[in-house]
Formats: sequence, C-alpha cells, structure tokens
Amino acid sequence: MAVYVFRCPACAEFEVAVPMSSVGPTHPCPACAAESTRVWTAPALATTPAGVHRAMAVADASAETPQVVRSIPMGAPRPRSRRWSPTTGGVPVNAAHRPAGPHPSLPRW
Ligand SMILES: [Zn+2]
Repeated sequence: MAVYVFRCPACAEFEVAVPMSSVGPTHPCPACAAESTRVWTAPALATTPAGVHRAMAVADASAETPQVVRSIPMGAPRPRSRRWSPTTGGVPVNAAHRPAGPHPSLPRW
C-alpha cells in the first residue's frame, strides 16, 4: 500500500492508500465523488515497519515506566542454571545428587 494525494476541483486535496498496482491518474473525491486528479509527490517509501515501530514504542515506555513482574513472562527463555566453569568456578549442576567421589574437591562430569 502506498499513500497518494489527489486534488478535488471542488473541495481540497485528499490522501488515498491504495496498492501501487491499482492507482490511476484520477480518483473519486470521498466528499463529493468528483473525479480528482493525482498530485505528484515524493514517494514515502522509507518507513519503519510496524513491528519495529511497536517494539520501539514498548522500549520507550519501559524506559519511563518499567513494568514490575513477579513471574517469568510467557514465552521468555528460562534462566539457565549456574554451571561450573574453570574460569569462574561455580556450583556443578546437580551437585547435591552426585555421590561423593574420591576427590570431592574436583568437579565431576
Ligand atoms: Zn470533492
């Protein structure tokens, strides 16, 4: 869909959103139905997609008034459990359920 401007000889200019394939040189005026001629304007093709625009609006609103949640929102990824790492250390996964080995100070896989 693109927005085209038409000028009615009796009323004023008006805009019509129609597919590019079906626009003609004239269009009936929405007020008086007179045949109106097209006004040539610069195409407004560089628009932000609707989904991106909504996401930007949500981000702006969240910056000013963040929502407080008490549970993980639906569809959000689950928080990952903390895993042992040679650089950061940490607790091995399911460490409580593993039998104590001969070297309890070493991590078991
Ligand atoms: Zn008119």
